[in-house]
Amino acid sequence: MKVFGLAIHGGAGNIQKEYMTPELERAYEEKLSEALEVGYKLLASGAPSLNVAEETIKVLEDSPLFNAGKGSVFNHQGKIEMDAAIMNGENLTAGAVAGVKNIKNPITLARKVLDISDHVFLIGEGAEQFAKDNSIDFEDDRYFFDHKRWEQFQKIRDTEATQLDHSQSNVDILENNKFGTVGAVALDQQGNLASGSSTGGVTNKKHGRVGDSPVIGSGLYANHQCAVSSTGHGEYFLRNVVAYDIVKSIELSSLSLKEVCENTINKKLADIGGLGGVIAIDKNGLVAMPFNTPGMYRAFKTSNEEGCVRMYDY
Ligand code: ASP
Repeated sequence: MKVFGLAIHGGAGNIQKEYMTPELERAYEEKLSEALEVGYKLLASGAPSLNVAEETIKVLEDSPLFNAGKGSVFNHQGKIEMDAAIMNGENLTAGAVAGVKNIKNPITLARKVLDISDHVFLIGEGAEQFAKDNSIDFEDDRYFFDHKRWEQFQKIRDTEATQLDHSQSNVDILENNKFGTVGAVALDQQGNLASGSSTGGVTNKKHGRVGDSPVIGSGLYANHQCAVSSTGHGEYFLRNVVAYDIVKSIELSSLSLKEVCENTINKKLADIGGLGGVIAIDKNGLVAMPFNTPGMYRAFKTSNEEGCVRMYDY
């Protein structure tokens, strides 16, 4: 049997044991394990990596714990605008949506764009109209309202202009932005790779702001060699075209997947002040999950390795 496996993330950021309660820690571990198992079972039954990326991300979107789907953060207007994208490494097809409201599972909308649209990227009202035309599930505002997220937003809504317009220390960025985007990368039994990302963006973002997550090449990329999904301070990931940079560096260098990913996150991204991490899997089922923040919600499992579910830097 050919090697198969997947890796998932639930965002990178100031995730440290001292800020956690045992209950919250357990809740994160359980949800990550659940998503991982959903994906792994599908892969073991022979499902294509594209379906696996979508289905695992849906599990995370449906949880209030992560900044995607139901748990999305509020923008500066107190509204929720979500972004998502999915890419098939087998044939480089992709679907992406940005700035969408009230969509229950933005990753499913992105998948629909991939499957039936002539376009790759739809935004705002146009994407929502496409969703309506194709019977994608909507939810009302109450479904997305989360008291904790609202409090996070209230704390910074009035101070945001200076925080976003002027340079901040890394500590400020970490404390004020809860990076909690979700993502998945998968290698199936046919040897095909896929990746996906879904996010509410960053708390208190300007109306219309789009980060890296739905941008093919920055927030995700997949080809026949490798699949990558990013999480972190989107503006930096956009400028470094992180996911594509990793995939191309693998092709062009003799470095291992781990070395390339670590170099991109801990050197290229860190050098310009970018915070975050990536998950990646290659065609041999090797996985890398580096980050330059105190923690990253992450998990992986392959047919060769038992894998793990982790959140801290150990
Ligand atoms: N990359 C996302 C963004 O900038 C945030 C995150 O990863 O949590 O929109």
